[in-house]
Amino acid sequence: MNNNMLERYSRQLLFPEIGITGQQKLINSKAVIVGMGALGTVIANHLTRSGVGFVRIIDRDFVEISNLQRQTLYDENDALTNKPKAIAAYHKLTKINSTITIEPIVTDIHSWNAEDLLSDVDIIIDGTDNLVTRYIINDVSAKYKIPWIHGGAVRSRGMFAVFDSSVGPCYRCLFPTPVVGQLETCDLVGVISPITHLVGSLQATEAIKILVGDHNNRNSNLVQFDIWLNDEMEMDLSLSKNPNCPACSLHQYDYLKNEQHGEDYTALCGRNAIQISPKTERDINMTEMKEKLMKIGPVEINPYLLKCKIDCTVTLVIFKNGRVVIQGTDDITKAKSLYAKYIGS
Ligand SMILES: [Zn+2]
Repeated sequence: MNNNMLERYSRQLLFPEIGITGQQKLINSKAVIVGMGALGTVIANHLTRSGVGFVRIIDRDFVEISNLQRQTLYDENDALTNKPKAIAAYHKLTKINSTITIEPIVTDIHSWNAEDLLSDVDIIIDGTDNLVTRYIINDVSAKYKIPWIHGGAVRSRGMFAVFDSSVGPCYRCLFPTPVVGQLETCDLVGVISPITHLVGSLQATEAIKILVGDHNNRNSNLVQFDIWLNDEMEMDLSLSKNPNCPACSLHQYDYLKNEQHGEDYTALCGRNAIQISPKTERDINMTEMKEKLMKIGPVEINPYLLKCKIDCTVTLVIFKNGRVVIQGTDDITKAKSLYAKYIGS
């Protein structure tokens, strides 16, 4: 480690649980953060400053003004220019630590791309608020024996847990199937900024413990707390392994099975929007698309996406890889017909 590195990480080198050996392990580590919202930005900030050598950041959204209340790393200019969160975060993070590699990926995690994006790292950290994505992450974690750190925050409540099926239960041991419609999201019930920073910081702490190899001090509980009502609850997970768990015991990995063609249609909960993701990535010619859509309504464009307001309620957001978010409707049939009309199949 050169003198610049010794200076940069000096305060953390003095912390004996990390020290020079731990720092070297961090520098040699690879992490992926799924979702660069309120949790993801906090986690990425900590991992970048701590010197994790490779950090892949994955997010499907662009920055909006309502994100700025809690999503550290973004500013008003990012919102005004519709910058994808992964790209905006990349620009900030590389200014914070230019000695590490940050890899921004503008996409959503699906069964058909998860193994490519999540299986070549030492740790996976959950910054998403999507239930199915967590089952996908859990399947990759169980299949490739990569620990993952779950986190969630809504209102003033937060929770986090470490899942490592080689030493304990996986997420599916505790929650065998997703209960559709049960998940509260920030878009529906709101959230205050401090809880997201607290949960993200706790997730980052567990990630650092794992990456430096301090397995004795890992948190083996599912921890839940409410910082407004001053409640805390911890559930010991050490005996929760399910011998019939489809993921970590039976190795079925149901959430990684999918046909490799067509499109996937997802209603974005609480956002009055439908996302359409082609299973084979496309390369949209943004200039041609802009010219086509300018005849229909006002277009905003940057190198990553194009936004067109096609009538007084509906806005199309077209990403370069062919993914489309149709804002202003939760009607999948309508979304399908708009996709066919403007993007084609
Ligand atoms: Zn399991």
